[in-house]
Amino acid sequence: MDEGLCVNPVWPCAMTGACSVLAGFSGLNVLIHGSSGCYYYPRSLLKVPLFSTYLLESEIVFGTVERLKEVVNTLSTSKRPIAVLNTCIPALTGEDLSGAFSEEETIFVDAPGFIGSVEDGAKIAFERLGIETDASREGVNIDGVSLLDLFWRGNLHEAKRILTEMGIPTALCLAKDSYENLRKGAALHTVSVNPSYPSGVGTMLGSFLFPDLKDTCAKLADIFPNADIDPLLEEWNLADEQLFYSSDKYLRKYEPPVVAVCAQESYALFAKSMMERYFGADVPVMLARNHDAVSIPSETDLTKIAGHIAGCRPDLILGSTFEANGYPNAAFLGITPPDRSRVSIAARPIAGIEGGIMFLENVLNTLIDATSSKQKK
Ligand code: SF4
Repeated sequence: MDEGLCVNPVWPCAMTGACSVLAGFSGLNVLIHGSSGCYYYPRSLLKVPLFSTYLLESEIVFGTVERLKEVVNTLSTSKRPIAVLNTCIPALTGEDLSGAFSEEETIFVDAPGFIGSVEDGAKIAFERLGIETDASREGVNIDGVSLLDLFWRGNLHEAKRILTEMGIPTALCLAKDSYENLRKGAALHTVSVNPSYPSGVGTMLGSFLFPDLKDTCAKLADIFPNADIDPLLEEWNLADEQLFYSSDKYLRKYEPPVVAVCAQESYALFAKSMMERYFGADVPVMLARNHDAVSIPSETDLTKIAGHIAGCRPDLILGSTFEANGYPNAAFLGITPPDRSRVSIAARPIAGIEGGIMFLENVLNTLIDATSSKQKK
């Protein structure tokens, strides 16, 4: 980071990451101990009910414990467990909040925004939930489901469909399940629909993203000898053929696109692999949102991101509205939030076989639409 310069972070804070995990469990009340701004940020991104202490200046100055006690007591009448999520200001004042609640009914999650970004907060929330594996739990856990992900609902449906097809029960979905199911513990093995949101629960067998799916199914077959993976492999091969057929048709008329990809590492690698395999595309810009990315550089300074993109003059941007606005000459497909380019209500997957097909179909339509609108001008 350049010293003395303000950066434009394009990725939410740690508190929002912790909130995305906790709010994924129905039956658990999530209480944000902070200002209205700290509440509205995750509330607008996650689109699920949350509670807040809506701290005022006077409470910050004279102490926030009484206000926290008041809201915890009100919420306690619902008889649901409560997760209290701390935010920057109460964390910075160093106030002892333990007098506001009893440990039996309340989980205290200290993940103020300043400690890092989404992934750091999510990790703390998973640690505080203390999810144990249980050898008697049947099936496999589905990991990488985050309410912050544009594709979480579609991914979850697709992962459950794939497991059902193989005859493997779903044990626990992290993080989208009931709190009651979470307390029963997790199965020993886990697959992921987005490895950049790891819960750390169970032994990871692999990802359900299209390029990784066959390997992950083979590992599942080793663990679950009664699982039938052949129909899935056949479905994958058919999808692969169809994707080559559709991209070949495009390539008979147009040149392979130059692509810039900005997303969490797992989706960025997926997008690159798909664009190279089916389009022979050049992908000169690959930037990760998550700072713990291991194989591509991480960047959340919008000025720098825009500079990288402008330097390669891409035909297509796979990223968020931030990148699309930074380089409006390219066609754009949203694969990371925020995506303000379209109304998204349906459960769209990016993982699994349907996710692979949907991704490529959207890329083709985006490229064709952009070309025809240029020709009309
Ligand atoms: S960075 Fe801190 S102040 Fe800002 S929304 Fe997150 S927790 Fe609240």
